[in-house]
Amino acid sequence: MARPIALWGNPDSATFVRAYIEYVSFMGKRIPWHKWAIGPLMAVQADIIASGVKYHWDDLQTYNNRNIAGTHIKSNHAWALAIDINPAQNPWQKPLKTDIPVAVRDAFTRHGFRWGGTYSKPDAMHFEYLGLPVKERQEEDDMTIDEVRKIVREEIAAAYPPEIAEVRTHLDKLGVLSKSHTGTKAASVTLVATALSRALKLVGK
Ligand SMILES: [Zn+2]
Repeated sequence: MARPIALWGNPDSATFVRAYIEYVSFMGKRIPWHKWAIGPLMAVQADIIASGVKYHWDDLQTYNNRNIAGTHIKSNHAWALAIDINPAQNPWQKPLKTDIPVAVRDAFTRHGFRWGGTYSKPDAMHFEYLGLPVKERQEEDDMTIDEVRKIVREEIAAAYPPEIAEVRTHLDKLGVLSKSHTGTKAASVTLVATALSRALKLVGK
């Protein structure tokens, strides 16, 4: 499932990796991950360790700016919000084939991840985070959950007027073309800019 760009950043933006991707240690491997979903991933890791389950953490794949296979929809891997675990032993195939222990699967689902093993064509290696980046956003930008939701709702709605002139006027009004914004509301402006740049792309500019 593709994620709202206004919420998690635009993977196609030149600044995306620098702005949103951090390296974290997960089950002994160093992996790139979206900075606003590090909390849930670390909670998964704590649960796995606490469960005492044994597993081979050999091959972990996360960030990859690509589409879902066979579609034009961005994969959650494009935001570094999905992790593939040992693809060789957990292929994308029907019937389901997996060596991932139940305790590991449960640890992920308990913290807001969906397991690809439940898809109609099972993607056993794949876990994706479906929660909101609310807590982390609040900490970084001093925004409330309602503020985040308001921005996403209003600015996505504002990003789809039919006339490109309206989009440009909206951009000007918000000052995102001047790039003069600094301070705690800078991220809000980034949200608007990414939503609107997507709109501009949609109408062919
Ligand atoms: Zn995957």
